[in-house]
Amino acid sequence: MSATEEQLALLGGPKAIQTDPGDIFDWPIITEEDEAAVLECLRAGKMSGTDITKQFEREYAQWHGVRYALGHNTGTAALQAAMWACGVGYGDEIICPSITYWASALPAFSLRATVNFADIHPDTLDIDPDDIEHRINDRTKAIVVVHYCGYPCDMDPIMEIAEKHDVKVIEDASHAQGGHYKGRLIGTIGHVAALSGMTGKSLPFGEGGMLLTDDKEIYERAIAWGHYARHNEIEDNPDLAPFARLPFGGVKHRMHQLSSALGRVQLRHYAERLEQIQKAMNYFWDQLEDVPGIKAHRPPKDSGSDNGGWYAARCPYRPEELEGLPISRFIEALRAEGVNTWAGTNFPLHLHPVFTDLDIYNEGKPTRISTIDEDIRQPKGSLPVSESIAERAMTIPWFKHYRPQIIDEHAWAYRKVCENADALL
Ligand SMILES: *Cc1c(COP(=O)(O)O)cnc(C)c1O
Repeated sequence: MSATEEQLALLGGPKAIQTDPGDIFDWPIITEEDEAAVLECLRAGKMSGTDITKQFEREYAQWHGVRYALGHNTGTAALQAAMWACGVGYGDEIICPSITYWASALPAFSLRATVNFADIHPDTLDIDPDDIEHRINDRTKAIVVVHYCGYPCDMDPIMEIAEKHDVKVIEDASHAQGGHYKGRLIGTIGHVAALSGMTGKSLPFGEGGMLLTDDKEIYERAIAWGHYARHNEIEDNPDLAPFARLPFGGVKHRMHQLSSALGRVQLRHYAERLEQIQKAMNYFWDQLEDVPGIKAHRPPKDSGSDNGGWYAARCPYRPEELEGLPISRFIEALRAEGVNTWAGTNFPLHLHPVFTDLDIYNEGKPTRISTIDEDIRQPKGSLPVSESIAERAMTIPWFKHYRPQIIDEHAWAYRKVCENADALL
């Protein structure tokens, strides 16, 4: 049957989704093996130790083929440490996409640095590689890239720009654990990666984060910053040695070992779970490549790139292909078919008052511009793609298992709404 022959559920037709989704959307997957690992740590009273964390770090580093992994108590902490380890400090700038979770950018303030936001690309939802270079100036120390909803950033041009201007690249891999860019694992391409293992992330280990790098200096600086009890692991950095035993950041970043115990088990099963997610998500999109109004959010098939665990899966919306149908109406129709979806992405950070007005440190000036001589704030209109993305992107079902029947019904719901959009105008 063609989708145009069927009435939309919103207008009185049958719902596209009839089957109970069961556990297809449930995440994280916790089994007795996770419970046993956590209980063992709990009963041994090792919550504040580092032995399990170090095993987890070794396994994580091995998986990525990098020399160093350093466990953190949150992804936010790992990002702050990565920034400081890259030399971000007083009066410096980082470049970061405006559309991301705040932790990709905000730790810069705590280092007395500031942020120059770049726009995103409307198809990838990632930082636009063409909107980076002109933002680099004498103050720029690092570019933070975010593989948004799993879609790998175009790292080749970004690394080229970074090398040309001698700035570091920090990969925020919180959405893309296990994903690839041209055959290389996400998190191994920039100078350092930081990522979250928060409960909802595609590789979940409770509250926790990981820092990954091949660079010994970055690794040792991250230890100096937030791991005072591990300063003895700093081998040969004369700049750090005299100050050992107190954390330079005045912060304590040690990973909770209930998290590292959980993480070790999750990691063992991740490849197999990732495969199910990828198979399911690609199957969904394979059915929708030709429909107007929505665009698959995945790299080309033979590129060697993939979306990893498809964290917080989303897709671009193209109202101009549906005679201007507003996203709210499109979502209303999808929800009537039984799809649990909503419009938008993270909100644009550059317009938030914390980044335009707030004086966090009582300096008589907004923190954004308190350590530099120039007003780099970015008013409405400066990042057009980021500012319009709320009307031009939406969540899509994040399937965790390859179960064709329920996925078919979801794909059918999208096709029905896209192909009958004129009935909604
Ligand atoms: C979740 C997330 C973080 C922060 O991680 P926490 O573990 O919650 O502190 C950072 N960046 C991005 C892009 C995220 O999605």
